[in-house]
Amino acid sequence: MDNEKIDVTNCDLELIHIPGQIQAHGFLIVLDHNLIIRFVSDNLPQFILGASNNLINEPLAKLELLIKNRKQPEFIMQLIKFGEADENFYQKNPFSLDVSGMPFHLILSKIGPLQLLEFEPAASDDNVDIQSKVGSSIMAMLGDKNITSLVSNAAIQVKKNINYDRVMVYKFAEDGHGEVIAEAKNDGLEAWLGLHYPASDIPKQARELYKLNLTRIIADVNAAPAKIITSANNPQPLNLTNSQLRAVSPIHIQYLKNMEVASSFSISLIYKGELWGLIACHNYTPRFLDYKSRESAKLIGQILSNALEFMEKEQNVELQKLFEERLVQLNRYLLKNNSIENAIIGEKVTLLDITAASGAVLLFENKLTTLGTTPTSEELEGLIDWAQNNITDLSWQTTNLSALYPPAAAFKDVASGMLLFTISKQLKEYVIWFKPEVLQTVSWAGNPNKPVTIDETGLKHLSPRHSFEKWVQDVTGTSLQWMPEEIKAVTRLKDELLYAINIKANAIRLLNDKLREAYEELDTFSYTISHDLKSPIAAIKGYSDLMLMKPELETDMQKALKRIGERAGKMNNMVNDILNYTHLTRLDIQYKDLNAGAMIEDIITDLDLDDFKRKIKITLGPLPKLYGDKVMIMQVFSNLINNAVKYSVNEESASIHIEGKVKEKEVIYSIKDNGLGIAPENMTLIFGLFKRMDNVHKIDGSGVGLAIVKRIVEKHNGKIWVESELGKGSIFYVSFKKGMLIS
Ligand code: ADP
Repeated sequence: MDNEKIDVTNCDLELIHIPGQIQAHGFLIVLDHNLIIRFVSDNLPQFILGASNNLINEPLAKLELLIKNRKQPEFIMQLIKFGEADENFYQKNPFSLDVSGMPFHLILSKIGPLQLLEFEPAASDDNVDIQSKVGSSIMAMLGDKNITSLVSNAAIQVKKNINYDRVMVYKFAEDGHGEVIAEAKNDGLEAWLGLHYPASDIPKQARELYKLNLTRIIADVNAAPAKIITSANNPQPLNLTNSQLRAVSPIHIQYLKNMEVASSFSISLIYKGELWGLIACHNYTPRFLDYKSRESAKLIGQILSNALEFMEKEQNVELQKLFEERLVQLNRYLLKNNSIENAIIGEKVTLLDITAASGAVLLFENKLTTLGTTPTSEELEGLIDWAQNNITDLSWQTTNLSALYPPAAAFKDVASGMLLFTISKQLKEYVIWFKPEVLQTVSWAGNPNKPVTIDETGLKHLSPRHSFEKWVQDVTGTSLQWMPEEIKAVTRLKDELLYAINIKANAIRLLNDKLREAYEELDTFSYTISHDLKSPIAAIKGYSDLMLMKPELETDMQKALKRIGERAGKMNNMVNDILNYTHLTRLDIQYKDLNAGAMIEDIITDLDLDDFKRKIKITLGPLPKLYGDKVMIMQVFSNLINNAVKYSVNEESASIHIEGKVKEKEVIYSIKDNGLGIAPENMTLIFGLFKRMDNVHKIDGSGVGLAIVKRIVEKHNGKIWVESELGKGSIFYVSFKKGMLIS
């Protein structure tokens, strides 16, 4: 066993439902389904003259004889038989009877096949009579309209009714620790109102029992319990989950003794099925409340629980309405605004307004926008990275961020509370709200960090605390709670936002489809037109050539016919270019690793540079391999190199440089010339179909080449761009995704 670790679970593990004993102010008999006695408490002889432990394995009839119930000798037997047929039987508890001439309550319950018979005195100490007063008490309790007065009234009324020395309303926080939120006490007792108690004071399984049994009495903390005995051949311990008399755990007894409490009574307060708190009553002398009084007190607890539920709802209706109105507004923006980001942060009402947060952040489409008071963008970057790696829930919240993400301590004044929802984890898209740190002072009943003792073997144990001295602690790094209304509003926004994003994505997809269809139609159209134009052009060319052969033609006519022929030839080239251009869309890329160097050298060789009248110098840098379609890539380089040559015509000595660079994910080729250059405003125009710039009119061309190049590059998922200065020259860049062989 690891004795370094605090054995914090020793309270949590204690089997408090099978303590093997009961409180001694009553006695217990347990029957099996044949009505044979299987367990008895060893204090039987104190209540029933002549009874002893040898009742075990005897029939119920034998007990009935001993009890000498004046009214009916077979009362219990008939009760049980009758009860078997009645669904609501156990709600009829307690049943009054005489035990050896004294008035007793018999409380029946079942656990598995066993029938528990618990006998308690039928009168409370002090002759408390809650039943007759409970109605007016409840009226008095509900007189006020706010929660603080309601719980304080409840404490006063319960104290009035049961007359305990101290009555507290104790509320559990989310982390399980409790706070005294109302108190009614005898004069002279120290006030415990506002004190906090660590969660370990009431272990988990005790809370479970508080949920099952809504009242619990410990009549005399100092009284010795009565043992439960059974036959030697029955090793099963008796489960007292449903018992009224269940003995108290020794740890809890010690805890109460340390507080000098002699008797304790508690009423559970349940809110939405969970233990919201307790009405905890302490008496400094032993005190017993009979079953009927406890049931009446339980009624007060139930009515208080209902009132709390109702009032909490009422209180928040206003806030909820406000957030609701703002959500409706946001939703309107989302419907009419094309940009989601604008809709939720750019208008009068923003996503910050649907919570009480002081700052918010939207991280959407790679853009971070902040509203109100938030951490700096650097701090946010770290925080979002952390969230990306650690938060798996779509919606997530905390009021103590720095406890989970320590770097947040640096900005706890603006972001101790954080509420986040994920738009898309994959795209790293989030909406986050922040609440600032609220410094709090918490008064504990004793130092909550020291509920640990070390036993003689050196093992650390969680023990009942000895000191209940007020212990003040400053709590830092926490924000106000995220209210249910805020969570609700944020959840609603999340739904609306995801819906809007979805609608927009669909709209874009539809537009894309339409665009693609339109493109395809246009391509087919231009392909057909171009194709059909080819024969009339050929006919024009043919007829003009034929006519030119006639010797009798005038010189003017000859010239005109020559022109017609030339123009028809040009038209033919253009048509071929268009055919080439549209043809590209129909082709699938045949991806291959390409020796771009060899391709470029072939193109240069084909240019026959020596034939040019001017001097053209082409230098080559590294020419790395490419991954793409051989024919298409050949066309890219051929166009770009031809243009570089063509548009450096004014230079006496044209110099062109070609090289390729291998980057992490791509290969970038550049073709640099010292030619005419391109004006900045034309740098994107030149890639359009039939676009030729003013400075090149004297140079032949159709304005299709770069459009083809762009189409090929984009078909390869690559990019093309140009850097240029008018009169100085241009550099054309093409980038291609890296192939398998290029590493
Ligand atoms: P074409 O060369 O047939 O005119 P392109 O599509 O290849 O058609 O080029 C479109 C236009 O871009 C050219 O007319 C020219 O104005 C401009 N251009 C292309 N390459 C260069 C270059 N290297 N230097 C200057 N201008 C260029």
